[in-house]
Amino acid sequence: MVKDLSDVRKTAVRGVRRVVVKVGSSILAPEGRPKAAFLPRLAAVVARQMGQGLEMVLVSSGAIATGRALIGLARGSLSVQDKQAAAAVGQGLLIEGYRRAFSRRLRKVAQVLLTHDDLADRRRFLNARCTLQLLLQRGIVPVINENDTVSTEEIRVGDNDNLAALVSTLVEADLLVLLTNTNGLHDRDPGRSEGAQRIPIVMNIDEGTEKAAGSTAGVFSVGGMATKVEAARKAARSGIPTVVADGRSPGILDEVLRGEDVGTLFQPAPRVLDGRKQWIAFSIKPRGRIVLDAGACRAVTEHGRSLLPSGVIRVEGEFERGDAVSLADPSGRDLARGLTNYGSLDLLRIKGLRSSAIEAVLGYKFADEIVHRNNLVVL
Ligand code: GLU
Repeated sequence: MVKDLSDVRKTAVRGVRRVVVKVGSSILAPEGRPKAAFLPRLAAVVARQMGQGLEMVLVSSGAIATGRALIGLARGSLSVQDKQAAAAVGQGLLIEGYRRAFSRRLRKVAQVLLTHDDLADRRRFLNARCTLQLLLQRGIVPVINENDTVSTEEIRVGDNDNLAALVSTLVEADLLVLLTNTNGLHDRDPGRSEGAQRIPIVMNIDEGTEKAAGSTAGVFSVGGMATKVEAARKAARSGIPTVVADGRSPGILDEVLRGEDVGTLFQPAPRVLDGRKQWIAFSIKPRGRIVLDAGACRAVTEHGRSLLPSGVIRVEGEFERGDAVSLADPSGRDLARGLTNYGSLDLLRIKGLRSSAIEAVLGYKFADEIVHRNNLVVL
């Protein structure tokens, strides 16, 4: 058994060339300001790994934590505007910290600030991918953060765990490492119960995994373990393993990359989505929701069929043809994501009907399907 687990670990890191490492605020700035020794230590490890042929992309939190201390915002929760102002002040300092730490290792860093919107627009997504490829080819370390200063609720990713997962699909990474202040996922909250056991490997992310993750976040962190599991799930569906590990321990990145038994390894899913479907599933936010009857739920989730108008029982929100929508079962549980061939107004008129009736009702027909199976991803 033990041998099996260690084999799984070693296999997950074998042949890895491109790694995305997310650095959480809880380890970079646990007291609300960057810890002096942290970045030089991280830079030393990252630069050494790059010297051995790895390509490294960093996703770093800490702009808000750094900025708030500087502009004198008290502890406790901040308004959105305060966070945006703190991020504007903190991001410069944060990147300066990275620049200084890496320049001692003769490496350049590049600041890349993204919002969800950048990734939801296919053209900008591909453009960002090109730029990141170029930086990596030149041996420059991209240091990515959410562009908090301009990101409103509708366009933000919201937490850097999910951002790091999206970045992993963007750069087609071989491994995602989330560095945090706990040694991986535990069967219970280790902060609250003494006997909590670390889960070394998660082969399949399911409801049990989510339950173990709970929903707690630290004082300066956004996500906690729940967003890490969400991120790992996105990466898994894209064929990328994730390791969540304790970034306070200096040698951790080396240990993870050697496939040692540290933190929690989340294995890639058995059925992996292709690049375009990853983008549909994770990078675009649904504008509305289509509720399906039981038969359509089965057809879509079990048989991989397209969604036809006859299976639609309710339409929620306003959306246009071509927008992303979520497909839900009658109880409202999201089952799938897809790009719709019909806007919400059209759909209200043709829901429940056979495809052959579409043209007579609307006066035109774009397609027989509301969401074609090629544009549909079961979650
Ligand atoms: N983007 C935020 C920051 O730099 C952090 C978000 C997170 O920690 O998930 O402060």
